[in-house]
Amino acid sequence: MACDGIYDLVIVGGGPGGLTAGIYAMRAALKTVLVEMGAPGGQVNLSDAVENWPGDEHIGGSELGMKMLAHAQSYGLEMRTEEVAAIDPGLEHHTVRLAGGGCLQAHAVVIATGGNPRKLDVPGEKELYGKGVSYCAVCDGFFFRNRTVTVVGGGDSAVEEALYLAKLARKVYVVHRRDQLRASALLQQRARAECKIEFVWNSVVTQIKRGLDGVGSVALRNTRSDEQRELETDGVFIFIGFLPNNRLVPAGIRRNADGYVVTDEKCETTLPGIYVIGDLREKYARQIVLAAADGCTAALAAAHYVESRKAALECALPEGMRGGVTH
Ligand code: NAP
Repeated sequence: MACDGIYDLVIVGGGPGGLTAGIYAMRAALKTVLVEMGAPGGQVNLSDAVENWPGDEHIGGSELGMKMLAHAQSYGLEMRTEEVAAIDPGLEHHTVRLAGGGCLQAHAVVIATGGNPRKLDVPGEKELYGKGVSYCAVCDGFFFRNRTVTVVGGGDSAVEEALYLAKLARKVYVVHRRDQLRASALLQQRARAECKIEFVWNSVVTQIKRGLDGVGSVALRNTRSDEQRELETDGVFIFIGFLPNNRLVPAGIRRNADGYVVTDEKCETTLPGIYVIGDLREKYARQIVLAAADGCTAALAAAHYVESRKAALECALPEGMRGGVTH
């Protein structure tokens, strides 16, 4: 199959990790293309506000994503809005196959595809998605002004989004399966001080029930007493972590039991020239700043890798043909 071009580096995914890799790759003069099927910025677009990006005490998630995109494009980074179907590792080049047909070849590939929200997998969740069930408070919170909503989860996302929803809704229940939050101390402190938020401890949602107009209530089970109860609510916002989006990770690359990709300190996988960064990579914490740091590491490592690959290919040529390996 004829590919559209041979690049030094193809970056798959345009979140903070992918865009930072793009910035560093362009600064290292790598011929680079970034392929993203949705809006650049990735998950950060779903955040109402980001308060832990150094240098910006408070910035809107999508604004931060747009700034990163503009920064990468200021170096002339080529962007393609397309879905990637597969990544085929090769001995000479790796091939990135596009869902719409065609392909891109490169010495190195950075996979920055992040993850997707984890689902509760309870009756009513799928059926009422978009009719009161949501995984994005910034996107859907507006529809619940002065209404009652239920947030499920106890991590940073759940608490942060509960605080956001408290600005709009009349009442916000936070249903958590334990009696201690996983969220950071600062977020916990803010949520406990917010009078519209009420915690429902040691409880899991067993069903999301339909009301007159979309969601009407959730059925809860107490994890300690097994007691069942029903909580009236107009909306259910689910933030129970996410699953790594590892569909494009080629077979043979090492992953941990949860599906996150294991890399070395250069973010390189067990296949040379293929790097995994950001939320898809096994790591201690998943933060924007860490995804960006991974992007920097992988691009610098890829620059070194591409240079040595080209030197090796050059040496493999007969003497009279040398000097021609430009890609
Ligand atoms: P998370 O930290 O993995 O928390 C998931 C929460 O959902 C936990 O409280 C967990 O309960 C609960 N949970 C998991 N499966 C469940 C199930 N089937 N039923 C009910 N509850 C369930 O996920 P996250 O909050 O999305 O955060 C992901 C990463 O992004 C974290 O590293 C986080 O620090 C980071 N993040 C940071 C910020 C920030 O710094 N501002 C904002 C958002 C996210 P248990 O606690 O009992 O396990």
